[in-house]
Parts: sequence; structure tokens; C-alpha cells
Amino acid sequence: MTQNIDAILAAARHHCNETIRPEVERWNQHRQWPRHASDKAAALGLTGLYAPAEWGGQALPLGEGIRVYEELGKGDGAYAFALSMHNICTYAVCGFGTDALKNAWARDLTTGRKLANFSLTEPQSGSDAATMYTQARINGDGYWVISGAKAWVSLAGEADIYLTVVKTSDAPGHKDMAMIAIPKGAKGLSFGPRYDTPSYNFLPVGEMYLDNVMVPPENIILPIGKGLQGSLMAIDIARVSIAAGCCGLMEAALDMALSYTKNRRMFGAAALDLDGIQWMLGEVSTDLEASRLLYRAAANALGTLDGPLLAAHAKRFVPDAAVKAANICTQAMGGMGLLSSYGMDRLSRLAQMLRIVDGTTEVSRVVIGRALKKRAASLPDVEVPRGFGQT
Ligand SMILES: Cc1cc2nc3c(=O)[nH]c(=O)nc-3n(C[C@H](O)[C@H](O)[C@H](O)COP(=O)(O)OP(=O)(O)OC[C@H]3O[C@@H](n4cnc5c(N)ncnc54)[C@H](O)[C@@H]3O)c2cc1C
Repeated sequence: MTQNIDAILAAARHHCNETIRPEVERWNQHRQWPRHASDKAAALGLTGLYAPAEWGGQALPLGEGIRVYEELGKGDGAYAFALSMHNICTYAVCGFGTDALKNAWARDLTTGRKLANFSLTEPQSGSDAATMYTQARINGDGYWVISGAKAWVSLAGEADIYLTVVKTSDAPGHKDMAMIAIPKGAKGLSFGPRYDTPSYNFLPVGEMYLDNVMVPPENIILPIGKGLQGSLMAIDIARVSIAAGCCGLMEAALDMALSYTKNRRMFGAAALDLDGIQWMLGEVSTDLEASRLLYRAAANALGTLDGPLLAAHAKRFVPDAAVKAANICTQAMGGMGLLSSYGMDRLSRLAQMLRIVDGTTEVSRVVIGRALKKRAASLPDVEVPRGFGQT
């Protein structure tokens, strides 16, 4: 049964307080995806946020559903990221999948019985996604036979289905790209050792190898020619989701710093009574308010012409603000901010990871720069004096 956004946000808050926060340190020590936790998230309706009700989803508009990651991000940004990726893939299967694919997978995905990953990045192609080379050829029976390697695959080996971007010819560029769903059990699919990350150890991330993996044509998500374009639309949703998760992270860092500094005595008063400490934390608080407004505006613009640019603004601004927030809040706690038990180091590492995943801060700057050039072209010319280097 579908729930309204207030009920879903309350469920996400409950999941954060009852499951993520108390358990995340243990998850990191065990270095294993907490499937029991994502099962609990599923039972609360958090694994089918945007999927239609007929497939068991919550049918929330993107602008509303994305707020869930702010709640989950208060617990852990990497966990929020993984669930956001699953939700976007589930949305893609329900929205673009063939009837056969939907019948086989949609309900299992919306109910979280199965988890999904999106695989675009390759060892030689991260920001420059158009230089990927994993290739599919279509055999005489219409089956897709895929060979290549993907890198930085989140939930590697843990997800049950991988929405994989492939090329379908040797031609350079993206005009031959498609996206196809590959089940974990497909013959020829294997995973490398997981990357040794400094934190968020419960999230398995690693390489995925495809050696003549054969997939039926009904597994197509995006047809030839639409693979990159469709992926970029998915990445816009992911960018705003990351910004939402970063707001949760900033709030967690700020609350920890406030809880500590109100009790730490120095110079005859609480640390929080010092103007300097208030100014530091006040700056974090302003950044958090600005970040929230920005990601929510970007979320509401998804699917419109303004969507990609606002998503780039959100992905550029908010993770940077989160890195700054984690550093300032650590500093405000002095030496204690460095101890693992307060969790500030974990937040710093998560914030840095969130600057990179789903398109780096610099790539967002490139998108913003292109929009500025377009705007400049529409503005009246202002004369550059002779000898000052005209274009
Ligand atoms: C924890 C984690 C999980 C991930 N999960 C997935 C996943 O599930 N699926 C998936 O497909 N990918 C995933 N990724 C990959 C992620 O999207 C890439 O790491 C990201 O796109 C950057 O690519 P890269 O790491 O190859 O960096 P590079 O592309 O090598 O970039 C190196 C540096 O150059 C900068 N740069 C790039 N272009 C420009 C430019 N034009 N001007 C100036 N500077 C520039 C970058 O910002 C960066 O600082 C994950 C990454 C991480 C860290």
C-alpha cells in the first residue's frame, strides 16, 4: 500500500534512529552489506520510492521522494547512496523495462527482496564516460552477448541485477550506447576483490567482469542510441539524492558538535558560549539551510529543462559544504573530535566520497560553465577596448 511523503519520511527517520545509527560502526567492522537492514528499509517502503503502485512502489514524485536521503544521511551517507542507486534503478526498470523484465523483476525490486546496481564507470573511463568500451553484440537469436569490465561497482556481488551501460559497435562516441539489465547469476559475470576503502567498509565496491555474458533482448532498459543520454538523466536524480544525503550528514555533524560544546567547559563557561565557536557552527548552520533549499529546488526541477543545471549546482555546492561542515564541527570539538567514538572522522570521509560519486564536483563545474557560456551568448556584447585582447 502506498504511503504519503510524511509517512515515508517518518519511516526513514525511524530506520535511521533504530537501525542505521546504532549499527553502522558494527557494519563497518564486519565489512559486509547489512542485508537485514535493507530488508527492514524495504518493509518500511523505502526500496520502491518512485515506482508505480501497480508494481508495489510508493509512486512518490522525485521532488518528494528524494527527501528520504536527507533522513538516511543523518545515519550514514554511503548507506543512503546505495539505497538511492537501488531506487533509481527500480524506477528505470518500471519506467523503461519491457513487460517481460517488469514481470520478472519489478515487484522483487520495489519490495527490496532483490537489490539493483547501475554500472557505467570503467577502469579507463570515469568522468569521461564516453570513452567506455564494454561491448555488446547481438547474436542470430537476438540475444545480447556482452564482454568488458566495469569499475567502482557499488553493491558488487551483493546486488541481484546490474543495469549496465554498453557500447554496441567500435565507433567512438556515445551514439551506439544502450543499457541492459544483467542478473547476478548470468554465466560469464564475475567480480574482482573489493576495493580497500578507508571507511564505508560495509558497502562492497569493486570491479565487475563480463566474459561473453548472454542476456535476452527483453532485458533492454535503454535502446541503442539512448544509453548515455538515459544514464545522464539517472545521474541527475542521483546527484540531487547525494546532495540530500549530504544535508543529513551536515545535520549529524552539527548536532554532535552542539551536543559536545554545550557541555565542554573552558575559560569558565561552556565552549558553545564562546563567540568564536558560535560563529564556526553558525556558518555550518547557514550552509545547511542553503544546501537544503538548493537540493529541494533541484529535486523539484528534475524532469524539466532546468533539471540538469540545478542538479549540477546542488552536486557542486552541497558535498563541498558537507566536507567543510565535517571539518569545522571536528575542529570545534578539539582533540575529542578526532576520536572514533564521536564519529566525526567517518563523516569527513563520507563527505569526501560524496564529492566524487555520481559525477565529481569538477564535472558539475563543467556543466555549470557550459550553461554560463550559453547565457553569455544571449547577452548583449560589451566592448573590450582595443589592445585588451578581443575574441
Ligand atoms: C564509493 C564509490 C562508489 C561508486 N559507485 C559507482 C557505481 O555503482 N556505478 C558506477 O558506474 N560508478 C560508480 N562510482 C564511480 C564514480 O562515478 C566515479 O568515481 C566518478 O565519476 C569519477 O571518475 P574517476 O574516479 O574515474 O575520476 P577521474 O574521471 O579520473 O577524475 C579525476 C579528477 O579529474 C577531475 N576532472 C574530471 N574532468 C575534469 C574537467 N573537465 N576539468 C577539471 N577536472 C576534471 C575529477 O573531478 C577528479 O577530481 C563510484 C565511485 C565511488 C568513489
